[in-house]
Amino acid sequence: AAMRRVCLVGSGNWGSAIAKIIGNNVMKSKLFEKTVNMYVYEEMVDGQKLTDIINKRHENVKYLPGVQLPSNVVAIPSLVDACKDANVLVFVIPHQFVDRICNQLKGNLAPDAVGVSLIKGLSQSSVGIENMSDIIGQQLDINCSALMGANIAHEVADEQFCESTIGCTEETLWPMWKELFHCSYFKINCVRDVHTVELCGALKNAVAVGAGIIDALEFGDNTKAAVIRLGLIEMRLFAKHFFSGVEETTFFESCGLADLITTCYGGRNRKVAEAFVRTGKSLEELEAEMLNGQKLQGPHTAFQVYQLLKEKNIEKQFPLFTSVSFLLSFCVFFS
Ligand code: NAD
Ligand code: 13P
Repeated sequence: AAMRRVCLVGSGNWGSAIAKIIGNNVMKSKLFEKTVNMYVYEEMVDGQKLTDIINKRHENVKYLPGVQLPSNVVAIPSLVDACKDANVLVFVIPHQFVDRICNQLKGNLAPDAVGVSLIKGLSQSSVGIENMSDIIGQQLDINCSALMGANIAHEVADEQFCESTIGCTEETLWPMWKELFHCSYFKINCVRDVHTVELCGALKNAVAVGAGIIDALEFGDNTKAAVIRLGLIEMRLFAKHFFSGVEETTFFESCGLADLITTCYGGRNRKVAEAFVRTGKSLEELEAEMLNGQKLQGPHTAFQVYQLLKEKNIEKQFPLFTSVSFLLSFCVFFS
């Protein structure tokens, strides 16, 4: 069979860390072509184009400084050019850019293309709540899987062991996804339950905002454990309320409990939520000040979740999600 060509759509903090794994894996594989295109949203860094810096120095100096990227990962500023001959697309951009990216890619993909989304976030539309793989799959008419796990980017880039979960409805694709992502320090498990995999990835960010608030109030580990426990219960209840086919076991994959724990201790959402309560500055200001261009997902997801719960009149069943959203708006009001 012809070798598959891989394209990364995104090159932020996580996008760059996964580019390192994919770049190294394709070099060892007979399934994939050796060159991996990486779509880079072009910007100037110290007077130079970020794509030029990445292609010369093989380092994303802005979003993942200090980490060597494999030289077969090629930065490309045109989304359509980067993707046009690819039949494996790895989507790893902040969720607010998904619609724009899909609009540009529509009708410009190889007919046999498949995708995987590494994007944590929810979408709300006239049809109700949707996951990112649904949006990408529908808009681009491709099969789209999801990869989520306890995967804080800089730890993965430093090759510290972790696990990750791929939700993919087509079991025939599992070996291909494993060959693309699995390596000695990144252990992949595949499941069919793509919706729950993604809901875990999106919803844990709202819980992490709660953990950051607790840290700002200088409560201890017991309180944070309570937030995590309630968070997991509400994630499960939310998933069952809005989706069918939710498997209990998915919450015990890396995308579930493990990602929830790591994000509540080491994530950006936790960190910025803590600073938000401590400083009284706005979330936008703190995102710009603390994250140097990286994007937060948690506050937006927390507000979306609360809106949905309120529309269905079930917010009383979700005291943690409700409190997180309330505390965020309360602080926004007084900041
Ligand atoms: P990031 O937070 O580093 O975001 C910055 C990226 O957004 C940069 O590549 C930037 O070029 C791009 N960008 C800015 N404006 C843009 C525009 N108008 N159009 C397109 N792109 C634009 O990104 P990330 O860390 O790679 O996160 C991507 C997804 O992966 C998110 O959903 C996140 O939740 C998830 N994720 C992140 C981590 C992590 O530790 N960073 C781990 C697992 C999952
Ligand atoms: P943050 O976006 O809060 O840093 O979480 C990263 C993550 O999703 C780890 O798996």
